[in-house]
Amino acid sequence: MALIVQKYGGSSVADVEAMKRVAARVAETRNAGHQVVVVVSAMGDTTDDLLDTASQITTNAPDREMDILLSAGERISMSLLSMAVNELGVPAQAYTGAQAGIRTDSHFGRAQIIGMVPERIARAIRDGQVAIVAGFQGISKDEDVTTLGRGGSDTTAVALAAALHADVCEIYTDVDGLFSADPRIVPRAHRLRTISQEETLELAAHGAKILHLRAVEFARRYDVPLHVRSSFSEKEGTWISNRPANPELAGLVPEAALAHNQEELVEEPLISGIAHDRSQDKITVRGVPNEPGKAARIFEIVAEAGVNIDMIVQNIPVADQTRANLTFTLPAGDAQRALDALEAARGELAFQELRYNPDIGKLSLVGAGMRTNPGVSAKLFGALSEAGINIDLISTSEIRISVVTRLEDLDRAVQAVHTAFGLDSTESEAVVYGGSGR
Ligand code: ASP
Ligand code: MG
Repeated sequence: MALIVQKYGGSSVADVEAMKRVAARVAETRNAGHQVVVVVSAMGDTTDDLLDTASQITTNAPDREMDILLSAGERISMSLLSMAVNELGVPAQAYTGAQAGIRTDSHFGRAQIIGMVPERIARAIRDGQVAIVAGFQGISKDEDVTTLGRGGSDTTAVALAAALHADVCEIYTDVDGLFSADPRIVPRAHRLRTISQEETLELAAHGAKILHLRAVEFARRYDVPLHVRSSFSEKEGTWISNRPANPELAGLVPEAALAHNQEELVEEPLISGIAHDRSQDKITVRGVPNEPGKAARIFEIVAEAGVNIDMIVQNIPVADQTRANLTFTLPAGDAQRALDALEAARGELAFQELRYNPDIGKLSLVGAGMRTNPGVSAKLFGALSEAGINIDLISTSEIRISVVTRLEDLDRAVQAVHTAFGLDSTESEAVVYGGSGR
């Protein structure tokens, strides 16, 4: 017997038929003798629809009311799914985030989990019930309903799996797992059988829309093995795990996880995957006096405006070493705020010009094997130059290299790099069943 947390995304419960299919899967797992906790997202586009409805009433909704509203989507799914599971003769009970003991801070719309007390859930599964929990929400110490940020149901699932010491957290979506690149851009992308948590973190942090970033952070911190797979097929998905599979899970698809550990002994694959990101913009502060403290002030001002920056490059033209150019990238939605804040400080900063470019794309190559293999950047830059693609900015971590290109070149860049690193699969195997990729 294993304790399994299953999370179903919005596309897996988009309508009544889908909901019944999920219920059958839950019942099957329970009938195989396992303890099952289910975390469910709002049906289909419910969250977007709720946001849209609110925007027809006000453009200035109080954050607290917005969170109560948005939490309703997941409550609809949890109760309907629980009815569907009961209908199959398997006892199930639905729980809101608060009832499941998910305690958060009070940052509405982006609350962080600060404590997990899933006593009722533990009791329910001990009593043979299936516990069905509304994703994406918790309760603050003032007893207000909070939400965890878009895509937050993944985090609910992983946090519950960690708190309950689950054997595995299965993330059900409408694709067959994690791919070496987005199959919509690279049809020959291949499914990854296994990938480490740190590589997944890098991919998720740099644009791969696979999992809520905080969910992966949780999984790493508490060592929760994740299995990302499709609710539309029986196929094995992708195992995200750093630890040996629990032998008791035999029969419960531990093969890949075991293979992962064997592979680790042999050699890590050089490259695991490529993420891309179209959501960033670029700002250049040109002609900043080249004196100590200027860069610090610029980034203080940008930070005070609540803007998170990603890549930073500074260069000092050889011709005029008295002035520097500072370039950075940031989420597109933050660009205006950053520009306004910098413009307001023009007198103090004494720069010559502010430039703004929204049309950039970022490609990130991720692989744990990079650590021990020189030449990865040379190969990456070579592939791009052969494809006639100009590189604008570059940044690296131990296991990632990111480059910024023109937005219109991004897809071609991803394809060229995928091929250059031998990642193309011989057959096209990526299937998106639902359509949302969630
Ligand atoms: N329903 C929420 C959203 O659409 C949370 C989730 O699906 O994970 O963002
Ligand atoms: Mg942009």
